[in-house]
Amino acid sequence: MATIQTSAINSQRRDKLIWRHSRDGSYTVKACYLQQSSKKTVIDQWPWKLIWRTKLPPKVICFSWITLKDSCLTQNNLMRRKFQIVNRCYMCLCNSESINHLFLHCTVATGLWNMFFSLFGLTWVMPRSLREAFVCWSSWKVGKSVKHIWSLVPACILWCLWTERNKRCFDGTPTPISTFKARCLITHFGWVNLSPVLSVDSFLEFISSIDLCC
Ligand SMILES: [Zn+2]
Repeated sequence: MATIQTSAINSQRRDKLIWRHSRDGSYTVKACYLQQSSKKTVIDQWPWKLIWRTKLPPKVICFSWITLKDSCLTQNNLMRRKFQIVNRCYMCLCNSESINHLFLHCTVATGLWNMFFSLFGLTWVMPRSLREAFVCWSSWKVGKSVKHIWSLVPACILWCLWTERNKRCFDGTPTPISTFKARCLITHFGWVNLSPVLSVDSFLEFISSIDLCC
């Protein structure tokens, strides 16, 4: 009441709505976005650069985005859509198949992440969720020389796990783990260099260049 009483009211002017987060009082989507961004909320925590600001194949970008949005059609998500299925992970055959399990906590997924951690010379405590893993990955400070290599790893892991999962689901033919890991490294090489592996030497040189301690 004190605020209202101290305000001078001009009865000659008409009332109007004012958006107080812009200079001229008018609402725009841009002003709203900037105001929301300044709160350092979801937008800052969302690892969009790791997906959209990369030179990944478009289908991999879309797949990674869908997966982080928890919309990838794992068996958990199919059941949420009322499909009647027996939910079992095709990779380990032990747990139910959710996004966090398939891409993070399954023994096959953990083995793949650990392969890259050891190449980078890192020890890593696996986060609870895939999204947390992406946020941690994107906020990790790495040198310019390995930044490009580093940024493509999470999407590469997701893509390789999903294609292998589909192979086991629809063809019933699991790839031996050592072959699967090698295939993942070759896929990563291809995306980083925008070319397939043409010689063993170039591949070995690439592997040795991954170390963060260099
Ligand atoms: Zn599993």
